[in-house]
Amino acid sequence: NITLDDLIIIKKLGHGMFGNVFLSAHKTKKNLYALKTIDRKKIDNEKVQDSLILERKILMQLNHMLILKLIKTFKDEKRLYFLLEYVRGQDLFDVIRELGLISNEDSLFFASCLIIIFEHLHERDIVYRDLKPENIMIDEEGYPKLIDFGTAKIVESRSYTMIGTPHYMAPEVILGKGYGISADYWSLGIMVYEFICGGVPFGEGESDSYTIYEKVLEGKITYPGYAKPTNELKSFIEQLLSKNPASRSGGSIDNLKLHPCLKNIDWE
Ligand code: ADP
Ligand code: MG
Ligand code: MG
Repeated sequence: NITLDDLIIIKKLGHGMFGNVFLSAHKTKKNLYALKTIDRKKIDNEKVQDSLILERKILMQLNHMLILKLIKTFKDEKRLYFLLEYVRGQDLFDVIRELGLISNEDSLFFASCLIIIFEHLHERDIVYRDLKPENIMIDEEGYPKLIDFGTAKIVESRSYTMIGTPHYMAPEVILGKGYGISADYWSLGIMVYEFICGGVPFGEGESDSYTIYEKVLEGKITYPGYAKPTNELKSFIEQLLSKNPASRSGGSIDNLKLHPCLKNIDWE
């Protein structure tokens, strides 16, 4: 049974909203972990504390190859700690920055993996709510892994909280109309567009939230000349970016899997 004293810190992997994430190893067994630290001073409000409790609860109940595993949590006077499976690799944000664009084929592979992840989450009434390249790590074998469940929520009915990252937020989230799992499909549509075009479709380069919301609500999709999506891929993106939440999956996740552009995917 592993404790904080069994661990040594090797290096910093990244930083989060409330602290750093470190590569860490077991002193004797040598297993590697990612240790996410949360500074207690930075979480002195009840809402943030609730969201961390929920992040822990949700991660603890999930067990899927494509979702980051939470092994244990610890606390001391100064910090909370999440001991996480270590993903050796890069996040998709850095991959896009490095490559500029992602090929149609790889984009569809990542999209299919995300559909499988959503199936797992949505069956459990979990809406992720913050799908974006930074929250997806690519492991050494090239498989994506969803990390950071800080905004995920269990919704039996509808959610009204305006949450997420403006460029990836669905119109109904922005409008405070009440939303559900379909908001995740919208974000997937934004991301697939970003893979093949190198930037987001609405409000690229814009940092003012209200300007971005306006662009999202306007919903005009154009493709830069250098992007070469097939017509099937365009129709897939545009289905995911339907204003009507119910149209995004085509009725159900099984229908979404039947989209013509995914015909070569082996769902096993
Ligand atoms: P926050 O919730 O504060 O955004 P994250 O959980 O997203 O924190 O972690 C911040 C960063 O740390 C990530 O973007 C990633 O670069 C790195 N990171 C987090 N978890 C892992 C992990 N399990 N393996 C490797 N790197 C990680
Ligand atoms: Mg994060
Ligand atoms: Mg978080």
